[in-house]
Amino acid sequence: MTFVITSSCCSDAGCVAVCPVNCIHPTPDEPGFGTSDILHIDPEACIDCGACADACPVNAIFPVDRLAHRDRVFIDINASYYRDNPQPSGWSEVVYPVIPKLPADLRVAIVGTGPSGGYALRTLLNRTEATVTVFDKLPTPGGLVRAGVAPDHPSTKDVMKTFDLLYRDPRVTMATNVEIGPEVNAGQITPAELAEHFDAVFYAVGASASRRLGIAGEDLPGSTSATELVAWYNAVPGAQGPRFVGGGSGRAVIVGTGNVALDVARILVSPPEALAATDIADRALALLRQQNVHEVVVLGRRGQADAAYTSAEYRALETIPGVEIVVYDGDDLPDLSGPASPDRRRIVFAFHAVPEAARGDDHLRSVRVRAGDQAREIASDLLVRAIGYRSTSIDGLPFDEADGRFPVRDGRIVGDGGTPLPGAYAVGWAARGSTGGIGANKVHAIATVEAFMNDVVEGLPRTTAAPEAFGELLARRQRRSLGYRGIAAIDRMERERGAQQGRPRVKFTEVGAMLAAAGRRRR
Ligand code: SF4
Repeated sequence: MTFVITSSCCSDAGCVAVCPVNCIHPTPDEPGFGTSDILHIDPEACIDCGACADACPVNAIFPVDRLAHRDRVFIDINASYYRDNPQPSGWSEVVYPVIPKLPADLRVAIVGTGPSGGYALRTLLNRTEATVTVFDKLPTPGGLVRAGVAPDHPSTKDVMKTFDLLYRDPRVTMATNVEIGPEVNAGQITPAELAEHFDAVFYAVGASASRRLGIAGEDLPGSTSATELVAWYNAVPGAQGPRFVGGGSGRAVIVGTGNVALDVARILVSPPEALAATDIADRALALLRQQNVHEVVVLGRRGQADAAYTSAEYRALETIPGVEIVVYDGDDLPDLSGPASPDRRRIVFAFHAVPEAARGDDHLRSVRVRAGDQAREIASDLLVRAIGYRSTSIDGLPFDEADGRFPVRDGRIVGDGGTPLPGAYAVGWAARGSTGGIGANKVHAIATVEAFMNDVVEGLPRTTAAPEAFGELLARRQRRSLGYRGIAAIDRMERERGAQQGRPRVKFTEVGAMLAAAGRRRR
């Protein structure tokens, strides 16, 4: 028997460190780490000890005889990695980090509570004696784990349990519902104020804005971005619904072939009754029931070999009960100008197919597509662009508009001429751009904390503000920031609401309701 890694793998790589026979790859220092969405166990080398399953933060590793039916496809996905990537025999040299002695009273801020912020926090707590204040603009932490992971992949969200332990550390102060920006009258804290009160600030704000298609009709009701749609069905306060009103085609078109596109396709085409057992937002479930999408067309500009999705994600689509997968290339794409058949659910991949215009009147009716040499009209009520993500600039910090990220060198935010801003760092997608998953962001967060530690050794200027001054500033802004207790109260309430319906949780969708829940005492 062997153990097998399944789709919810987050590439945290904690399993790599505990495997006694070094049979989990790619490791963080091997090619492919961060671009492969799961790690793989070599079935020939695994000695079946189970250490990796215990270490996995998202419960993604199972003995082969305990795999759920839909996960059995991962037996071959794990094994085929080793057929395609033969491993050299023997051990690679273990490199232990050099940890310099730093002042004990360092004060650090982290802006953002997604995975990159979480891994930066963990590294800071493990390797320094710093106190750390963690900010999020929403009352609930989690960043893209809460806002971006698909509702039908609950175990991937378990990575937050690892970070939740850190939030309880006595050296950590949580301050959620606090936004960083220029509008002090709206309660925001400026980057300059953070720089004044902390020795270092790590911006882990992710990439939550979407790139545009640049085609006619892109702003019609019924046309939206994957980030907005995913945030909406994941109950993020303020996220707008897609406003599809039911042209009756039963079809959606998604532009892009990355894993996010596949996530959205899977959610849209899944029977609503299957989603009803997840933590999907009620508002989304209601609309999906009413809309009844039966067919999702995924458009790829290039061929299938160049698709951006990972093979594990693609093969997982084949296991959705009752959903057929069909693939067309260029001119082969059949006529889809009429409504989708209500008798079947299917995902249609159309490669070498480029959207040229979104058409409609008061809402989207169809998408004109160039498929190979043919012009095609695809009847559709919903158009989703999933073609890449950008960070959002923060007034007072340099920003690379062309790349949609903060300009960095070795994690240090740099201004004009490439000069680092002392004590300002960016981690994860905000610094790297939106490529690579949780594991790649972990590696980047660790390297950036190491850059900060080097800067301290080299004489990074320290804050002269009194330790209590920042709390006073926050109070003066009249911002109701939440500490760990408030965050835990919201979490408890959401899980209680979920338990009443046999769901993992029912999320709040309004900040006001979250704050009200945060004030409730434990029953
Ligand atoms: Fe390694 Fe043990 Fe996991 Fe097999 S079960 S991959 S030997 S840690």
